[in-house]
Amino acid sequence: MPITVVGSIAYDTVKTPFGERERMLGGAAVHFSLAASFFDDVRVVGPVGEDFGERQLDIMRARGVDVSDVERVAGGKTFFWHGEYGWDLNSRETLDTQLGVFEGFAPKLSEGSRASDVLFLANIQPDLQQQVRGQMTGARFVALDSMNLWIDIARDSLVAAIESVDCVILNDAELRQLTGKPNLVSAAREVLSWAPADAAGSGARGPRGPRVIVAKQGEYGAALVTHEGFFALPAYPLETVIDPTGAGDTFAGGLVGYIAAHPDEELSDALLRRAMAHATVLASFNVEEFGTERMQRLTGTEIAARIHELHAMTQFSGAPLQLRG
Ligand code: AMP
Repeated sequence: MPITVVGSIAYDTVKTPFGERERMLGGAAVHFSLAASFFDDVRVVGPVGEDFGERQLDIMRARGVDVSDVERVAGGKTFFWHGEYGWDLNSRETLDTQLGVFEGFAPKLSEGSRASDVLFLANIQPDLQQQVRGQMTGARFVALDSMNLWIDIARDSLVAAIESVDCVILNDAELRQLTGKPNLVSAAREVLSWAPADAAGSGARGPRGPRVIVAKQGEYGAALVTHEGFFALPAYPLETVIDPTGAGDTFAGGLVGYIAAHPDEELSDALLRRAMAHATVLASFNVEEFGTERMQRLTGTEIAARIHELHAMTQFSGAPLQLRG
């Protein structure tokens, strides 16, 4: 089922202990699209400036991503982000963020984008996320990502946006900050409780509210909390990580893409666990090189092989031992 994603399309300048790149293609919607394109049709919505090249759009087109709703703003400047990582690749410093064309952005989805069955609200101002959500009331599955900045300066709006989606994907620290709960599971349960009382057991298009919480934990993996239960996966163990930028969005692209590709399957924990595995694997490829470099030449065969490995390394057999005590 087609997926629409709304979010940043950016130029990123990134420095890690392993090198640096200036003004490479980035942005949450871009990273998401490239990953989700392995599973289903993707339409990307967002503004770019006059400085954005056809070559950058071609990177998305090459993966079959529909970029016809990328809006080129005359005289505008593309969103720019500058970040730096130390030896601990789990923490980064944002050195500069220039909103550029995002400053006056009022999303207007085309009929084609509105018709998608699945929506991903990538990390943007939560009022914009709500505006987009309001234009896609028929979506079967809606997921949202956000960041500490919006928890700091627009919490009420973010909570309202969260109340209108099915799935919330956040870093574990953000989940704790959002809820004021120090424990990850209780923080996730708190967000699950924000669903309207009449949402439980509602049909696909009935009353909404978060029913799937995913906590990203960087190099430690990711956890899933639903009303049904709990699941967690480690990150795929890589020996070399070059640039973690976009790992979260790539993870989201794998998760949401996998769910989109199973339109006839109920949103059960079994389906979500498989989606988590695909998300984990996609993110692991993304961090192997700078920006979108690795994703541009990734193949389905490589993804399938790594899923197989992840499956093998996260299984253990039952151990029927008569325990003392
Ligand atoms: P991630 O590493 O998954 O958190 O995503 C990093 C991507 O998000 C980069 O490509 C940036 O261009 C983009 N990004 C960084 N800050 C923001 C922001 N405030 N709003 C939207 N996108 C952002």
